[in-house]
Amino acid sequence: MIRGWCPGALRPMESGDGWVVRLRPPGGRLTGAQALAIADAAEARGNGVIELTGRANLQLRGVTPASHAPLIAALRAQGLIDADIATETRRNIIVTPFADAATDALAAELAAALAECDLPLPAKFGFAVDPGPAPVLGRDPADIRIEAGASGLCLRADGADRAAPYGGPQDALALARWFLDQGGAPEGRGRMAALTARTMPPGATLPAPAAAAAPQPGLHPQGMLVALEFGQIAPDALRRLGRLAPLRLTPWRMALIEGVRHLPAMQGLILDPGEPRLRLRACPGAPACPQAHAATRPMARALAPLIPDDAILHVSGCAKGCGWPRPADLTLTATGAGFDLIRHGRAHDPASLRGLDPDQLPKVL
Ligand code: SF4
Repeated sequence: MIRGWCPGALRPMESGDGWVVRLRPPGGRLTGAQALAIADAAEARGNGVIELTGRANLQLRGVTPASHAPLIAALRAQGLIDADIATETRRNIIVTPFADAATDALAAELAAALAECDLPLPAKFGFAVDPGPAPVLGRDPADIRIEAGASGLCLRADGADRAAPYGGPQDALALARWFLDQGGAPEGRGRMAALTARTMPPGATLPAPAAAAAPQPGLHPQGMLVALEFGQIAPDALRRLGRLAPLRLTPWRMALIEGVRHLPAMQGLILDPGEPRLRLRACPGAPACPQAHAATRPMARALAPLIPDDAILHVSGCAKGCGWPRPADLTLTATGAGFDLIRHGRAHDPASLRGLDPDQLPKVL
């Protein structure tokens, strides 16, 4: 079942373990007080599961119709809730975790402009604020990207190899309007890359900056980048991190702990770039998702030691592939008749092998 929209805080989505409430912390950053409030709310108003998503959002699971209103009140007091659903939906911005004050200001200006505008953008249409020395968010979902070119900030439509000079959030909104005017979202759905495959946006004359290598967990000049197994963090771990320093959220199932040089060991946090669990992708699977044909994460964990160092294994509870909507080296898609194995594809792509029994998987891999 494809719903065509993402859950938000004000518009939760029903799942197998209750409502999923998704938060978009402003600027992709959590203060210590916000981290503590989220941890408390996840335990008191949900089932304690906190997940970092592929768009650097945080989602709380197991919320109920009765607990939703007090959860929203607690988080609104921390500045984590938008005024209304339309504003929340439009404020779909990923910010580089290596941000400085100028980057934070760019993201805040863009958020304010999006709150004011009335563009009927598709629910999944998003922006990346990524003006570091080399873009780090180029592999992550965004339709409009603010990056640093050779002679200043530039604005790049996703999929385009040329960019335009960026003069302010009005330029990002103009590019979004161009997307709509060009028919980029027939029936309210569509992505920029499909449009730029057909036509280039106006004014895109500058070369796009070269992307940085994918950031790895460990120490960075801005702090410690920690990976979360399957993007999950326990409330206690979030509290402990929040007491240390503000957190920057990433779309890589990692969080940057600002300014921290050393971290005490905490269960579920991965600091070693060679850790096999970093090569795993898996959606929540059964029993959390009603559409799942199997429990995905225990399966992925068990198979992790078999995955080559440079390969990604994606275990998906169904063909929708929420856990990794891109090609993976190996994908196991649960079906009503066992697992399908897809090589170098997505969860719904044609399978090399079909109907595998879970006991066969180690040998097959
Ligand atoms: S991919 Fe996983 S989380 Fe998504 S609908 Fe299928 S079983 Fe559910």
